[in-house]
This record gives sequence, C-alpha cells and structure tokens, in this order.
Amino acid sequence: MLSLSPLAVFFFIAIAHIETDYLYERTSEMQITAALAANIVGAQGFDMLDMPGRTWSLQRDMRERSTEWGFRVLVFNDGMQVISDSADLRTGTTPFIPEVVRAIRGDDNTELRRDERALYVAVTVTSDRDATERSGAVLLVGSVEDIFQSLDDLRNRLLLIISLVGLGVAVVVFITANTLIRPLRRILRVVQRMATGQLDQRVTDIKGRDEYAILGISFNSMAEKLEQVEKTREEFVSNVSHELKTPLSSMKVLSESILLQESVPEAMYREFLQDIVNEVDRMTSINNDLLSLVRIDQREQGLNIAPVSINKMVEDILRRLSPLSEQKHIALIYDDVRPVQIDADEIKLTLAISNIVENGIKYTPNGGTVKVSVDADHQFVYISVQDTGMGIADTEQTKIFNRFYRVDKARDRETGGTGLGLAISHAAIIAHNGTIRVSSRPDEGAVFMVRIPIRRG
Ligand code: ADP
Repeated sequence: MLSLSPLAVFFFIAIAHIETDYLYERTSEMQITAALAANIVGAQGFDMLDMPGRTWSLQRDMRERSTEWGFRVLVFNDGMQVISDSADLRTGTTPFIPEVVRAIRGDDNTELRRDERALYVAVTVTSDRDATERSGAVLLVGSVEDIFQSLDDLRNRLLLIISLVGLGVAVVVFITANTLIRPLRRILRVVQRMATGQLDQRVTDIKGRDEYAILGISFNSMAEKLEQVEKTREEFVSNVSHELKTPLSSMKVLSESILLQESVPEAMYREFLQDIVNEVDRMTSINNDLLSLVRIDQREQGLNIAPVSINKMVEDILRRLSPLSEQKHIALIYDDVRPVQIDADEIKLTLAISNIVENGIKYTPNGGTVKVSVDADHQFVYISVQDTGMGIADTEQTKIFNRFYRVDKARDRETGGTGLGLAISHAAIIAHNGTIRVSSRPDEGAVFMVRIPIRRG
C-alpha cells in the first residue's frame, strides 16, 4: 500500500499542472475577449450613453456578443454602476466588485473565484475620443465549472483506480504472506511443543522441495538426534547407577555379615575387608573411566593437539603393560613397520590404544600372543592389535563399543573390566577423526584396527 503513495502524489501533482494549464488558456481567451468588449464599448462613448436609445443598443449588442463568446458581460460606468448586464440581473445597481474597482482605477486584472468556480476579468474602458480619460470598466465573468468538473472526474477516477490497485495489491500480499507463513507456523508449533519436553514431536505434511520442506526435514533430523541423545543420556545414567549399585550392595553384604557374627576370626576380617577394598577399587576405576569419557566427549575443544610420534607412543604403552602380559605369560610383540608422526592429543590417544592392548591381554588365556603393529601411508596411520584370545561373536562386535557393554557380564567383572574401556577408545579415536574396526571369530582371537588421519582438518 505504501508503494502506491508516491504514485498517488505524482498523479495529483500532474492534475494540479493540468488545472493550471487549462485555467491559463481560459484566462488568455477571456482577457482577449474582454479587451475586445472594452474596445467595442469605448467606441460607442460613455458620454453618449445617457441617451436611452444608445443604452439599449449597447445592452442588446452586449447580450448578443455574450451569447456568442460564452461569457457574462457587465459594463460599468466610472461611478461603478452597471450600465449593461448580459444576464440582466444587475443592470442599474452599483455592486462592490473589487476587480471592477481596480479596473476603473486603471488596473486591468483577472481573478479566479474558486468558491464560485468562475474567472473574473475586468478591464478599463476608455472613451475613443480621449484615451487618457477613464470612462468605466468591462467585467467578463466566465464559468470554469467545466474545467473543475472534468478535473474532479479525473481525480475521482484516479482515486478509484489507485484504491482498486491498492486493494488488489493488499489481497495478493495477504494471500502470499499467508501461504508463506503457514508452513512456518506449523514448524513453530512443533518447536514450541519440543521446548516443553515433548521430544517425539515431528513436522508432518512436508511437501515439495522448497526451503520450508528443507527446513522441516532438517528440523526432523535434528529432533531425531535430540531424542537419541536424550535416550542415550537416560540409558547412561541408569547404567551408571546400576554399575555402582553392584559394588555398593556387595560392600553392604560383606559388612553386615561381619557385624552379625559374634566372634569373627581375624582371618575372616582380613578376607572380608580385602573384598571391600576390591569393590572400592572397582568403583574408583568406574569413576575414573567415566571422567575420561566425559572429557573425551567434549570433542574438539577438549583436545590438546601436538606432534606425536606414534612409534614411541605405542612403545611406551607396551612397556607399561608388559608386567600384565608377563604375569599371564603372554608374548607382547611389537611390529614397528614405519616411523610416523601425527598431530594428536597424546594423552587421549594413549588411553585409547592402551585400552585395546590391555583388553587383548585380559581376554587372551595364559601363554597366548598379543601383537601390535604400526604402519602408515601418506594419509593415515594404522595401528592394529591382534590377540589369540577368546574372540568376539559377530552379533557382539557392534555392541562392544557401547558404554558399560560387556559380552559376559559375570566373567568380565572378574577380569576387573568396567565396560567403559572400548567406549573411551572409540570416543577418543572419533575425536581424532579416525575409525576403529574389529574383526574376530569366537575362540580364534580378535584384531582391532585403528586408522587416524596424519594431518587434521
Ligand atoms: P571392559 O572394561 O569390560 O574390558 P571394554 O569396553 O574394554 O570393557 O570391552 C567391552 C567388552 O568387549 C568386554 O567386556 C569384552 O567382553 C569384550 N572385549 C573387548 N576386547 C576384547 C578382546 N580383545 N577379545 C575378546 N573380547 C573382548
């Protein structure tokens, strides 16, 4: 609607110009005619007008000419008395007409009287016999009703057109805005419902391939992820409480069984206390693993990137774990194929690889072998950990990276595992934009393959 305002202003200025042009033309025409009338009247001589015959003939003459010219013609003497009025209304009267007063004083003048919608043209009449002697005035009154009327018509028509166009524009804008906003409102409703915690809400009725459809699809996939995150969080919390419940209840049972007995032999005290210490150790290691996991989950921001020699890093890991392998008479073999240095967070990567090697030792029976190799191409470093242990069934292979997942709950608890080791390794490797895969068959050992890009970004 606003855009139409300059157009309306332009039209009205144009109409004002047309009005001025029309009035100018009409004024010129009337001024020429008035000059002609003044000449005719002057030629007859005012001094002779006292004679009734002369007056009548002037009046008749002016009436005829008035009809011919289309203007009312009034003739005044120098006493401002109307000698002749073509409309026969004022003859003999002495009206006060400012234009006539000025003309008798010698100033020809023209006035537009808007209230009457008429042009007043007054000119001085001088007697032919003495040009300096002022004898009276001729007043031409011409209606400009026709000009005003046609301009009013034009103005009204333009107003109507502008209003119709404005209305049309408003309707189009309203319809377009409505069709544009409707899908947005639908998405907004879903967003508001999700904000109140209803994470199962989705944008339905997605049509076409426009921006709204893309927004709806993207929103739904975000909602899907949000729901997944919420589910994982709930599972995680319930897993944590479950994991902590077991050592807590064993500690309670151990403590109560001592308290309920009258005279407990010292050896039994020692044994039970040792069991309690073991449970406390277990809770501590769950706690430590949870902390590591949370730190790694902070992803990119949490990484402390620096150049790391992978060969040296693996060598250190193996040195640290060798007491464990020696205990089980497991041969820990290092196959250092190629020297390689990458940009990484050494502490987190060390944690990831140690967990895998430690698992290899843990889940391989006495006398077995765990072989670790480091290789690289121009893009990636490859670290593989191969053992001759119990292996992992196909159905378990995707699950072992989940938090708290253990293939054999009872047995793995005995090995001291928290079920968080591989989840930590997985998170740390993903944070380095890497991948981890396992290939294994039950009783035929397992191979864990880690691939990490040498350069980041
Ligand atoms: P845990 O602390 O119990 O070792 P992990 O997350 O490290 O937890 O491993 C999850 C489970 O995957 C283990 O409980 C175990 O059952 C299985 N697993 C991991 N590594 C091996 C392996 N090298 N051989 C056989 N099973 C393994």
